[in-house]
Amino acid sequence: MKIYVVGIGPGNSLYMTPEARQAIEESQVVVGYTLYVDLVKDLTEGKEVRATSMKQEVDRCKIALEEALQGKTVAFVCSGDAGVYGMAGIMSEVAEAHPEVEIKTVAGITAACSGAAVLGAPLIHDFAVISLSDLLTKWEIIEKRLRLAAEGDFVICLYNPKSKKRHDYIDKAAEIVAKVQGWDLPCGYVKHIGRDGEYSKICTLQDLLNNDDIDMFTTIFMGNSTTKVINGKLVTPRGYHLDK
Ligand code: SAH
Repeated sequence: MKIYVVGIGPGNSLYMTPEARQAIEESQVVVGYTLYVDLVKDLTEGKEVRATSMKQEVDRCKIALEEALQGKTVAFVCSGDAGVYGMAGIMSEVAEAHPEVEIKTVAGITAACSGAAVLGAPLIHDFAVISLSDLLTKWEIIEKRLRLAAEGDFVICLYNPKSKKRHDYIDKAAEIVAKVQGWDLPCGYVKHIGRDGEYSKICTLQDLLNNDDIDMFTTIFMGNSTTKVINGKLVTPRGYHLDK
Protein backbone atom coordinates (compact mmCIF):
# COMPACT_ATOMS: atom_id res chain seq x y z
CA MET A 1 0.00 0.00 0.00
CA LYS A 2 2.28 2.67 -1.26
CA ILE A 3 2.03 5.63 -3.59
CA TYR A 4 5.17 7.20 -4.96
CA VAL A 5 4.42 10.72 -6.22
CA VAL A 6 7.23 10.89 -8.72
CA GLY A 7 8.77 13.95 -10.34
CA ILE A 8 10.10 12.63 -13.65
CA GLY A 9 12.03 15.81 -14.57
CA PRO A 10 11.33 17.86 -17.68
CA GLY A 11 10.98 14.95 -20.07
CA ASN A 12 14.25 13.46 -21.17
CA SER A 13 15.30 10.29 -19.33
CA LEU A 14 18.73 11.85 -18.72
CA TYR A 15 17.07 14.36 -16.42
CA MET A 16 15.28 11.70 -14.38
CA THR A 17 16.81 10.77 -11.04
CA PRO A 18 17.73 7.12 -10.35
CA GLU A 19 15.30 7.27 -7.41
CA ALA A 20 12.42 8.24 -9.74
CA ARG A 21 13.32 5.43 -12.14
CA GLN A 22 13.51 2.94 -9.28
CA ALA A 23 10.11 4.03 -7.92
CA ILE A 24 8.46 3.49 -11.31
CA GLU A 25 10.22 0.15 -11.78
CA GLU A 26 9.09 -1.01 -8.35
CA SER A 27 5.44 -0.12 -8.98
CA GLN A 28 2.71 -2.36 -10.39
CA VAL A 29 0.57 0.59 -11.49
CA VAL A 30 1.51 3.89 -13.17
CA VAL A 31 -0.97 6.75 -12.93
CA GLY A 32 -0.67 10.18 -14.53
CA TYR A 33 -1.58 12.70 -17.18
CA THR A 34 -1.34 11.06 -20.62
CA LEU A 35 1.67 13.12 -21.77
CA TYR A 36 3.73 12.28 -18.67
CA VAL A 37 2.84 8.60 -18.74
CA ASP A 38 3.97 8.65 -22.35
CA LEU A 39 7.31 10.22 -21.41
CA VAL A 40 8.13 7.22 -19.21
CA LYS A 41 6.76 4.52 -21.52
CA ASP A 42 10.16 2.77 -21.61
CA LEU A 43 9.61 1.93 -17.96
CA THR A 44 5.93 0.95 -18.00
CA GLU A 45 5.97 -2.22 -20.07
CA GLY A 46 3.98 -4.97 -18.37
CA LYS A 47 2.50 -2.57 -15.84
CA GLU A 48 -1.05 -1.41 -15.43
CA VAL A 49 -1.16 2.14 -16.82
CA ARG A 50 -3.95 4.54 -15.94
CA ALA A 51 -3.63 7.78 -17.89
CA THR A 52 -6.12 10.62 -17.59
CA SER A 53 -6.60 13.94 -19.35
CA MET A 54 -5.28 17.31 -18.22
CA LYS A 55 -7.91 18.72 -15.87
CA GLN A 56 -8.72 15.55 -13.93
CA GLU A 57 -6.23 16.06 -11.11
CA VAL A 58 -8.41 14.96 -8.22
CA ASP A 59 -9.73 11.96 -10.18
CA ARG A 60 -6.15 10.94 -10.87
CA CYS A 61 -5.42 10.99 -7.13
CA LYS A 62 -8.52 8.91 -6.44
CA ILE A 63 -7.42 6.33 -9.00
CA ALA A 64 -3.97 6.15 -7.37
CA LEU A 65 -5.57 5.74 -3.94
CA GLU A 66 -7.99 3.08 -5.17
CA GLU A 67 -5.14 1.03 -6.61
CA ALA A 68 -3.00 1.42 -3.48
CA LEU A 69 -5.89 0.31 -1.26
CA GLN A 70 -5.92 -2.96 -3.22
CA GLY A 71 -2.42 -3.54 -1.89
CA LYS A 72 -0.54 -2.38 -4.95
CA THR A 73 2.48 -0.11 -5.24
CA VAL A 74 1.60 2.87 -7.39
CA ALA A 75 3.80 5.40 -9.20
CA PHE A 76 1.92 8.63 -9.70
CA VAL A 77 4.00 10.53 -12.24
CA CYS A 78 4.28 14.33 -12.58
CA SER A 79 6.57 16.40 -14.77
CA GLY A 80 9.49 18.25 -13.21
CA ASP A 81 9.26 18.08 -9.45
CA ALA A 82 6.17 16.49 -7.90
CA GLY A 83 6.01 19.22 -5.27
CA VAL A 84 6.30 22.26 -7.57
CA TYR A 85 2.85 22.85 -9.08
CA GLY A 86 2.69 19.05 -8.96
CA MET A 87 0.44 16.46 -7.37
CA ALA A 88 2.29 15.69 -4.13
CA GLY A 89 0.11 17.98 -2.00
CA ILE A 90 -3.30 17.07 -3.37
CA MET A 91 -2.42 13.35 -3.21
CA SER A 92 -1.91 13.60 0.57
CA GLU A 93 -5.15 15.55 0.94
CA VAL A 94 -7.16 12.96 -1.04
CA ALA A 95 -5.63 10.09 0.99
CA GLU A 96 -6.00 11.81 4.38
CA ALA A 97 -8.52 9.26 5.67
CA HIS A 98 -6.15 6.39 4.81
CA PRO A 99 -2.99 6.76 6.87
CA GLU A 100 -2.28 3.08 6.15
CA VAL A 101 -1.33 4.11 2.60
CA GLU A 102 2.26 5.34 2.58
CA ILE A 103 2.76 8.37 0.37
CA LYS A 104 6.32 9.07 -0.66
CA THR A 105 7.32 12.13 -2.67
CA VAL A 106 10.20 11.53 -5.07
CA ALA A 107 11.96 14.76 -6.03
CA GLY A 108 12.58 15.70 -9.66
CA ILE A 109 14.31 18.47 -11.55
CA THR A 110 11.84 21.31 -11.85
CA ALA A 111 11.60 23.44 -15.01
CA ALA A 112 13.18 26.42 -13.20
CA CYS A 113 16.39 24.42 -12.76
CA SER A 114 16.48 22.53 -16.05
CA GLY A 115 15.54 25.69 -17.98
CA ALA A 116 18.10 27.81 -16.13
CA ALA A 117 20.79 25.33 -17.10
CA VAL A 118 19.84 25.72 -20.78
CA LEU A 119 20.10 29.52 -20.59
CA GLY A 120 23.27 29.67 -18.50
CA ALA A 121 22.96 30.75 -14.87
CA PRO A 122 20.05 33.16 -14.48
CA LEU A 123 18.89 32.08 -11.01
CA ILE A 124 22.06 31.82 -8.89
CA HIS A 125 20.85 34.24 -6.24
CA ASP A 126 17.43 34.81 -4.65
CA PHE A 127 14.62 34.05 -7.06
CA ALA A 128 10.84 33.79 -7.05
CA VAL A 129 8.82 31.20 -8.91
CA ILE A 130 5.38 32.43 -9.96
CA SER A 131 2.69 30.64 -11.94
CA LEU A 132 0.55 32.81 -14.20
CA SER A 133 -2.31 30.33 -14.10
CA ASP A 134 -5.34 31.83 -12.41
CA LEU A 135 -7.26 28.55 -12.30
CA LEU A 136 -6.39 28.08 -8.62
CA THR A 137 -5.04 31.53 -7.67
CA LYS A 138 -6.81 34.86 -8.11
CA TRP A 139 -5.24 37.10 -10.75
CA GLU A 140 -5.01 40.01 -8.27
CA ILE A 141 -2.79 37.86 -6.03
CA ILE A 142 -0.62 36.89 -8.98
CA GLU A 143 -0.21 40.58 -9.89
CA LYS A 144 0.74 41.41 -6.31
CA ARG A 145 3.34 38.64 -6.22
CA LEU A 146 4.82 39.84 -9.51
CA ARG A 147 5.01 43.44 -8.30
CA LEU A 148 6.55 42.57 -4.95
CA ALA A 149 9.02 40.10 -6.47
CA ALA A 150 10.17 42.82 -8.88
CA GLU A 151 10.39 45.36 -6.07
CA GLY A 152 12.41 42.85 -4.04
CA ASP A 153 14.77 42.57 -7.05
CA PHE A 154 14.23 38.81 -7.24
CA VAL A 155 15.01 36.98 -10.45
CA ILE A 156 11.53 35.80 -11.51
CA CYS A 157 10.81 32.44 -13.06
CA LEU A 158 7.35 32.12 -14.59
CA TYR A 159 5.49 28.84 -15.02
CA ASN A 160 2.23 28.46 -16.97
CA PRO A 161 2.90 31.70 -18.89
CA LYS A 162 0.14 31.30 -21.44
CA SER A 163 -2.77 29.17 -22.51
CA LYS A 164 -5.44 29.63 -25.17
CA LYS A 165 -7.68 31.43 -22.70
CA ARG A 166 -4.88 33.35 -21.00
CA HIS A 167 -2.91 34.51 -24.03
CA ASP A 168 -2.17 38.03 -22.74
CA TYR A 169 -1.20 37.24 -19.14
CA ILE A 170 2.50 37.21 -19.96
CA ASP A 171 2.13 40.70 -21.47
CA LYS A 172 0.43 41.90 -18.29
CA ALA A 173 3.17 40.30 -16.18
CA ALA A 174 5.88 41.97 -18.30
CA GLU A 175 4.19 45.36 -17.84
CA ILE A 176 4.15 44.97 -14.06
CA VAL A 177 7.83 44.02 -13.93
CA ALA A 178 8.80 46.75 -16.45
CA LYS A 179 7.50 49.44 -14.09
CA VAL A 180 10.22 48.44 -11.62
CA GLN A 181 13.01 46.95 -13.76
CA GLY A 182 12.57 48.71 -17.14
CA TRP A 183 11.93 47.20 -20.56
CA ASP A 184 15.61 46.42 -21.26
CA LEU A 185 15.77 43.89 -18.43
CA PRO A 186 17.66 40.77 -19.60
CA CYS A 187 15.25 37.82 -19.86
CA GLY A 188 15.07 34.42 -21.47
CA TYR A 189 12.72 31.56 -22.13
CA VAL A 190 12.97 27.85 -22.82
CA LYS A 191 10.37 25.68 -24.57
CA HIS A 192 10.06 21.91 -24.36
CA ILE A 193 13.03 21.55 -22.02
CA GLY A 194 14.59 18.12 -22.43
CA ARG A 195 11.98 17.14 -25.03
CA ASP A 196 11.90 17.02 -28.84
CA GLY A 197 11.99 20.56 -30.20
CA GLU A 198 13.73 22.15 -27.20
CA TYR A 199 14.16 25.83 -28.01
CA SER A 200 15.64 28.68 -26.00
CA LYS A 201 16.05 32.40 -26.45
CA ILE A 202 17.77 35.17 -24.53
CA CYS A 203 16.00 38.49 -24.95
CA THR A 204 14.75 41.61 -23.15
CA LEU A 205 11.55 42.12 -21.22
CA GLN A 206 10.23 44.07 -24.21
CA ASP A 207 10.67 40.98 -26.43
CA LEU A 208 8.28 38.98 -24.26
CA LEU A 209 5.38 41.15 -25.43
CA ASN A 210 3.15 39.69 -28.17
CA ASN A 211 5.59 36.82 -28.45
CA ASP A 212 4.10 33.85 -30.33
CA ASP A 213 6.94 31.54 -29.27
CA ILE A 214 5.59 31.53 -25.75
CA ASP A 215 3.05 28.83 -24.93
CA MET A 216 2.11 26.53 -22.07
CA PHE A 217 5.24 24.43 -22.58
CA THR A 218 7.50 27.43 -21.97
CA THR A 219 9.29 28.57 -18.82
CA ILE A 220 10.26 32.22 -18.65
CA PHE A 221 13.11 33.88 -16.79
CA MET A 222 13.16 37.59 -15.94
CA GLY A 223 16.49 38.75 -14.54
CA ASN A 224 17.11 41.01 -11.58
CA SER A 225 18.79 44.42 -11.82
CA THR A 226 22.25 42.81 -12.09
CA THR A 227 21.47 40.04 -14.62
CA LYS A 228 23.47 40.28 -17.84
CA VAL A 229 24.37 38.36 -20.97
CA ILE A 230 27.90 36.91 -20.97
CA ASN A 231 29.05 35.18 -24.16
CA GLY A 232 25.52 34.26 -25.10
CA LYS A 233 24.52 33.03 -21.63
CA LEU A 234 22.04 34.66 -19.27
CA VAL A 235 23.92 35.18 -16.00
CA THR A 236 23.00 36.70 -12.67
CA PRO A 237 26.19 37.58 -10.79
CA ARG A 238 26.32 36.23 -7.26
CA GLY A 239 28.40 39.19 -6.14
CA TYR A 240 31.86 37.59 -5.89
CA HIS A 241 34.65 40.10 -6.24
CA LEU A 242 36.56 39.46 -9.44
CA ASP A 243 40.11 40.72 -9.97
CA LYS A 244 40.33 40.70 -13.74
N1 SAH B 1 5.84 20.14 -11.78
C1 SAH B 1 6.36 20.86 -12.92
C2 SAH B 1 5.58 22.14 -13.23
C3 SAH B 1 4.15 21.92 -13.67
S1 SAH B 1 3.33 23.43 -14.07
C4 SAH B 1 7.85 21.18 -12.69
O1 SAH B 1 8.31 21.06 -11.55
O2 SAH B 1 8.55 21.54 -13.65
C5 SAH B 1 3.48 23.42 -15.84
C6 SAH B 1 4.44 24.50 -16.30
O3 SAH B 1 5.78 24.11 -16.00
C7 SAH B 1 4.45 24.75 -17.80
O4 SAH B 1 3.42 25.67 -18.18
C8 SAH B 1 5.82 25.34 -18.03
O5 SAH B 1 5.86 26.71 -17.66
C9 SAH B 1 6.66 24.56 -17.01
N2 SAH B 1 7.28 23.36 -17.61
C10 SAH B 1 7.16 22.09 -17.16
N3 SAH B 1 7.87 21.23 -17.93
C11 SAH B 1 8.47 21.99 -18.89
C12 SAH B 1 9.34 21.68 -19.99
N4 SAH B 1 9.73 20.42 -20.25
N5 SAH B 1 9.75 22.71 -20.77
C13 SAH B 1 9.36 23.99 -20.52
N6 SAH B 1 8.54 24.33 -19.51
C14 SAH B 1 8.09 23.34 -18.70
